[in-house]
Amino acid sequence: MARIIAVANQKGGVGKTTTAVNLAAALARTPKRVLLADLDPQGNATMGSGIDKRELAASVTEVLLGEAQPRSAIMRCEDGYDLLPGNTDLTAAELQLMGVEGREGRLKHALADIRDGYDFIIIDCPPSLSVLTLNALTAADSVLVPMQCEYYALEGLSALIDTINGLKGRFNPQLEIEGVLRTMFDVRNNLANAVSAELTNHFGELVFRTIIPRNVRLAEAPSHGQSIIGYDKSSRGSVAYLGLAGEVLRRQRERAQKQKEKAA
Ligand code: ATP
Ligand code: MG
Repeated sequence: MARIIAVANQKGGVGKTTTAVNLAAALARTPKRVLLADLDPQGNATMGSGIDKRELAASVTEVLLGEAQPRSAIMRCEDGYDLLPGNTDLTAAELQLMGVEGREGRLKHALADIRDGYDFIIIDCPPSLSVLTLNALTAADSVLVPMQCEYYALEGLSALIDTINGLKGRFNPQLEIEGVLRTMFDVRNNLANAVSAELTNHFGELVFRTIIPRNVRLAEAPSHGQSIIGYDKSSRGSVAYLGLAGEVLRRQRERAQKQKEKAA
């Protein structure tokens, strides 16, 4: 049964979509069966996967509104993973779901049917704590938090983790933090290095060892509708996301091992 990972941070432009798309593609290469769900009305993960968000027959919107089965909306991407696409219609879904009982559980319910067919389901969240993000966090086993090592980053991260813990109690007691990922990292930047050191001091094992460097190839790939692995496999960005996938898989194995030991 798939592990469901929500890629979330209410701060905009921190590398959520870049991480969701490239982690999906990297895991698909290992090879795992991967579904990427685009829960952001911006539709960036959809476009970045080579699917035109303006020409969707069905999307995650209809799935959330109970008007379509996920299977009817899912598309196959060139990079070897499946996509549950999204676009601006999601904004309408948000409005329609307002005031509806159990609205935060719509995605969880929809994914229950197809979960067995995948090893990983990665959800790209919008930069807000909307009902869409709430759906992602309710459906997920864990949250992966991309962050840039900037001055206010630690403060923001603590606030985000408090929020996640708050939501957890109400909607998803099992929710874990998959990890905190340093993105767009520039090793020549002293402040970034200082924030990074403080981050590992504070959050220890929660911080992925893999660091995603600032790499122009990562920014170029979406305009070709490709993951970095399809676009330029030997780039530093590609190597980093393949490394992240390796780390996610290792953590998965370690969890399974611990559970086995517990059961024994
Ligand atoms: P939003 O909050 O709007 O959804 P986001 O958190 O999903 O944004 P991205 O869209 O992934 O962030 O990244 C923001 C911008 O930075 C994009 O133009 C992306 O191509 C670029 N970018 C992301 N990661 C890197 C990187 N490691 N190196 C260079 N550019 C990057
Ligand atoms: Mg995004």
